[in-house]
Amino acid sequence: MEEQPTFDALADRLVRTSGEFHRRGWALGTSGNFSAVLTRDPLRVLISRSGVDKGEMTRDQILLVDEGGAVVAGNGKPSDETVVHVAVARQRGAGAVLHTHSVWNTLLSEAAGDEGGLLVEGLEMLKGLTGVTTHEHAEWVPIVENTQDYGLMTAEVSRVLVAHPRAHGLLLRGHGLYTWGRDLGEARRHVEILEFLFEVTGRLYAATGRLKAPRVAVAQTTGGGDGSR
Ligand SMILES: [Zn+2]
Repeated sequence: MEEQPTFDALADRLVRTSGEFHRRGWALGTSGNFSAVLTRDPLRVLISRSGVDKGEMTRDQILLVDEGGAVVAGNGKPSDETVVHVAVARQRGAGAVLHTHSVWNTLLSEAAGDEGGLLVEGLEMLKGLTGVTTHEHAEWVPIVENTQDYGLMTAEVSRVLVAHPRAHGLLLRGHGLYTWGRDLGEARRHVEILEFLFEVTGRLYAATGRLKAPRVAVAQTTGGGDGSR
């Protein structure tokens, strides 16, 4: 049986993740929040306290909550989005759920918001997502409308997770990214890969107004030209 990490070990990793994500511009100020599953039955989840500056998080700002988002250990109010984290952890069987507010994920959540999702395909870095073995993979990142009603947000996120069982992450419109993994390492990698894919797509969009590079069909060389040009 795999050894279960302790509360302290997971809390230390969440603190390190927070500092790194802040430095990389993915969780500036108090934005974003990070969670990791301590036990699954009963479900107990470590999550950052509400209003914590992500560049200065300390271990005593990590709380333990139950499956309803109520605090089981630690002081203070958990993040408003705790219920979303718990829902993702439960529905995806994830060991960690990470939520970032980067420039590129915010921009793309607006640029593709009317489509209900962002399609990313043809890029080698897609292979950094678990289970993806070729750049020919097409990743659909669903986009959910933002709201301050966290019960409604959780219901919408849950609906999207059911509708897109292969998705590695989802965007809240004008807000940020949720992604997850079987453990904190995998979830962290998914943030890094998705944020890279978002920056490439966002820079392309800023430069060309397109969300996808046009692919010119390559003519077969057999039989010569058809004289149509
Ligand atoms: Zn947020």
